Amino acid sequence: MAPATLALPGGIKHVSELPVEGKRVFVRVDYNVPFVKGTKTISDDARIRATLPTLQHLIGRGARIVLGSHLGRPDGQVKPEFSLEPVAVKLAELLSLDIALADEPAGDGARKVVSDLRDGQIAMLENLRFAPGEEANDDIFARQLASYCDIYVNDAFGTAHRAHASTAGMVKYVGEKGAGFVMAKEIEVLSRLLGEVDRPYVAVLGGSKVSDKIEVLDALLTRVQTIVIGGAMANTFLAAEGRSVGKSKVEVDKVAVAKNFLRKASMAKVAVLLPVDVLTGDGIDDTSPLAEKVEHLSEHRMALDIGPQTIAKFRAVLAEARTVFWNGPMGVFEKEQWAHGTVAVARALAENKLALTVVGGGDSAAAIAQAGLADKVTHVSTGGGASLEFVQGIDLPGIAALRP
Ligand code: ADP
Ligand code: MG
Repeated sequence: MAPATLALPGGIKHVSELPVEGKRVFVRVDYNVPFVKGTKTISDDARIRATLPTLQHLIGRGARIVLGSHLGRPDGQVKPEFSLEPVAVKLAELLSLDIALADEPAGDGARKVVSDLRDGQIAMLENLRFAPGEEANDDIFARQLASYCDIYVNDAFGTAHRAHASTAGMVKYVGEKGAGFVMAKEIEVLSRLLGEVDRPYVAVLGGSKVSDKIEVLDALLTRVQTIVIGGAMANTFLAAEGRSVGKSKVEVDKVAVAKNFLRKASMAKVAVLLPVDVLTGDGIDDTSPLAEKVEHLSEHRMALDIGPQTIAKFRAVLAEARTVFWNGPMGVFEKEQWAHGTVAVARALAENKLALTVVGGGDSAAAIAQAGLADKVTHVSTGGGASLEFVQGIDLPGIAALRP
């Protein structure tokens, strides 16, 4: 059962509160897993493992489980290379159970595997995006999916920002609905960032592009006291402050946006911290990084990580924070020589035991996992785009659909 403290905002029910015994329960999962290039070998099964608590809970209560997921971008066509077959095999292995995989997302084959289900068994529909109606949120397809179940459970936070047939459209045709364990934890923790949080609330933004993050930056101005900026994105902000950034990655067409943002932040009395020094190299494969002050960056070098003084400055701010949201690596963390800033930020979050610490974004989640610190923060979101939209205060269609 759910912990006693668990009460989801907006009256959303937790799966443990739904009358699932002997019922057909559709569970929207996010099994969009990566594969070893050119093979059917799953390279990271974290998204499958993440759903095990919900599935084990439902099996234990004798539900008849119908799983729906997308995989890749087959664009509404049946493409065998995007079949969920390897995923069904992996899940069967993890649960030590047989899993029936339908040969299509909807239709006679799907209806057959669902009607053959007994209590505590699992059937999986084929890749939902084989049907054009999924991404189009087509009403006929939504009704078809709804006809396979009595109860709807969403455990796919990573696709909650999309209004598709399986995340939004079908829900209104199902009597009972609720959130699975993954979804419930995401809603519970991320909602806290939208309410009254302990101050100072510090946001750390990094990663590659200002254009990807400008909306979240703007929205955070009304919530946070300090915004810390690193990564390639910082170069565009440094350029906006009139610095010459050598051969660093800069979005020339976003310099004006960055300038405007800095002006808005100053009006909102939100402190914006930019790097004071950076690690530079000839290119990302250069293995001898040089720490350079942003005031005199060599013309022919690229900023690929934040420098030691910047790390010290960012760490000091993060040690004082009582709420932290972090999205986007501080450098090209995929290469060891440019991972120092990102690892330092991860450590600063892990060491701050007084703060609510939340990490969102695909690469940021990978970075904190790589640093071995994922279990030392309050929450690492399973959704990249979805978590960014959520912290902006956007009502995600996949969550809105779960409200009574
Ligand atoms: P997230 O997925 O966490 O939202 P992003 O996708 O925005 O993060 O950004 C991650 C990417 O940004 C990484 O691939 C990283 O290598 C790149 N990056 C970070 N800093 C730099 C930099 N200074 N120069 C070039 N690329 C960078
Ligand atoms: Mg990314």
